[in-house]
Amino acid sequence: MELLDGKKLAQDIKSELRQAVDALLAAGKRAPHLAAVLVGDDPASQVYVRNKVQSCEQVGFRSSLIRLPADTPEAELLELVDQLNFDATVDGFIVQLPLPRHINEERITLAIAPEKDVDGFHPVNFGRMAQGLPTYLPATPYGIVEMIKRYELPTQGREVVVVGRSNIVGTPMAILFSRKGYPGDATVTVCHSRTADLAFHTRRADIIVAAVGIPELIKADMVKEGVVVIDVGINRIADPSREKGFRLVGDVDFEGVSQKAAFITPVPGGVGQMTVVSLLMNTLKAAQGEIYPKA
Ligand code: NAD
Repeated sequence: MELLDGKKLAQDIKSELRQAVDALLAAGKRAPHLAAVLVGDDPASQVYVRNKVQSCEQVGFRSSLIRLPADTPEAELLELVDQLNFDATVDGFIVQLPLPRHINEERITLAIAPEKDVDGFHPVNFGRMAQGLPTYLPATPYGIVEMIKRYELPTQGREVVVVGRSNIVGTPMAILFSRKGYPGDATVTVCHSRTADLAFHTRRADIIVAAVGIPELIKADMVKEGVVVIDVGINRIADPSREKGFRLVGDVDFEGVSQKAAFITPVPGGVGQMTVVSLLMNTLKAAQGEIYPKA
């Protein structure tokens, strides 16, 4: 079994990003600039946004964190989105989800200019992905694609089972694996909460992507020898032996499944590490006008 080491890959990518920033500065250009909007005080969102901002600093990007109170009216947030759309000093921005209930997430996502949508959530960018056109891939799928490429894992003709069909992980992963080219050309099965017999599908998978949110759902008897396992899940389970009283586990029973897997991502230290650097890679693309040429 070999670990798919997201931590190491993320470090490599960060040093590549630093070099890219140096090259931009040497060419007399400015550093890429990511803005992050955080509405309210959801504890998990605060941690995610803080990580994103810190990662920007580590690679020499400029970052701006815009915090708004939980009771911010939707119209005010839309106005801010509009300002950011037209702010030439901002290359890309994200509005951290989930938003407070009185704000319609879809309306906000649609209001973000696709050129600045470095989260890759706008339907225009999602549609471009589905058609195999250059786009900002959503961060987690982008991180998984990058991991597969850097470990040179073959996908052509492989049976891929994606467990979970969310818009941000499962569905884009299924699309990407089934597209022409690498890392695609696979035969993809999507399993979800209404799947009748999950184990039937996972047992014949060469590659499993688990993005469900159920701790250790995928057990050793549900996979075959030599499987490649990409565990996206991040779940807290109680653990009195830890100082914080909990530990993080994935959607895969790592201890059991790693006995049979050829490659597996750890949690933490796997996909999660790749997600943040993917946002930075998208921001660099935005700054360089790689997807949408700058006017
Ligand atoms: P979601 O909650 O939006 O969707 C969960 C999916 O799982 C649904 O499509 C549902 O149909 C499916 N599902 C539910 N029960 C199932 C079952 N018993 N069998 C098969 N499928 C079932 O999920 P999400 O936003 O994609 O997140 C999934 C997990 O990944 C969560 O633990 C989340 O915290 C984690 N996550 C991690 C990262 C990262 O960077 N590593 C990024 C995003 C999400």
